[in-house]
Amino acid sequence: MTDQNQQILLAGRPEGWVEARHFRLEQGPIPEPGEGEVLVRNHWLSLDPYMRGRMSDAKSYAEPVALGAVMVGGTAGEVVVSRDPHFKPGDQVVGMLGWQLYGVAPGRMLQKVDTTHVPLAAYLGPVGMPGVTAWYGLNAICEPKTGETVVVTAASGAVGSVVGQLAKAKGCRAVGVAGGAEKCRYVVEELGFDACVDYKAGKLKDDLKAALPRGVDCLFENVGGEIFDALLARTNAFARIALCGMIADYNTTDPYCMKNVRTVLINRLKLQGFIVSEHMEQWPVALRELGGMVAAGKLHYRESIAHGLENAPEAFIGMLKGRNFGKQLVKLV
Ligand code: NDP
Repeated sequence: MTDQNQQILLAGRPEGWVEARHFRLEQGPIPEPGEGEVLVRNHWLSLDPYMRGRMSDAKSYAEPVALGAVMVGGTAGEVVVSRDPHFKPGDQVVGMLGWQLYGVAPGRMLQKVDTTHVPLAAYLGPVGMPGVTAWYGLNAICEPKTGETVVVTAASGAVGSVVGQLAKAKGCRAVGVAGGAEKCRYVVEELGFDACVDYKAGKLKDDLKAALPRGVDCLFENVGGEIFDALLARTNAFARIALCGMIADYNTTDPYCMKNVRTVLINRLKLQGFIVSEHMEQWPVALRELGGMVAAGKLHYRESIAHGLENAPEAFIGMLKGRNFGKQLVKLV
């Protein structure tokens, strides 16, 4: 155990794009667990788009991170000291300990995980929050039937990659939208989607039309903006839309204005936004299914790994710009 903790704090609230100056790296003592608490050495930090929202104090579904506080974040690591009888040193746990090397939490806020068949980092990806997001949005909102066409945007990413594979397992036609030929090749050849549209190729509408000969029955929307607008125009009557994220808007001060909203009426669409952390009762079922699929090699995923806490801000900014290829993680040991 090194004798110092390292933490990344929120140093400023961005207007528009996040920059390195919005974060501050600090050293400090390793915290001591109180009664019922556990000290964890974090091995992995998850970087997720929702963190952009927490950097802002605009009205949202969650409280912002306070200025000068440790950045919020999902972590996976190993118990060092436990004052909760349910945990012992060496246990592998997942929690929300934030952007820091060591963290303390009450035992009830930590989840013990089994790394025999599923690697620890996967509990932050396909067998963690992003996987459950895909599972919930697809099953509870899109409710796809065999033979229907399911489209997912940000298709090569942590959430999108799981959505398409779950849709394929249900006998659907899975179509992704992703940025660049390499991501699209991966989505089709390695994840098994039926098609993938590269929105950066400059002919989005034509390419969507070609990839969607039978229209869209289910849309799992991660991006928003122009791509979402173009997809609305390709929906079938009674299509279902799980509005999961709008990352195209997270860093802009001038959000895209939708032009095709009337298709919601014309096609009698169901459109529902959701926040996965508000459906905790579904997590155990979802995690069992996703864990089983990963352990059996039936759910493929990819990770972008930054090394060292000090590189977390750059990796986070990169993810918001699409530089990640798969789940963005920071390796802390
Ligand atoms: P990803 O791993 O998909 O990484 C983000 C990706 O978004 C980038 O790689 C990039 O892919 C794409 N992207 C970024 N900017 C743009 C843009 N302007 N236009 C199009 N694509 C863009 O992240 P996650 O899988 O973790 O998250 C995906 C979405 O799901 C996010 O919107 C996130 O906020 C949302 N989410 C929502 C949850 C909920 O409870 N509602 C829970 C978890 C995630 P590319 O190179 O292909 O453009």
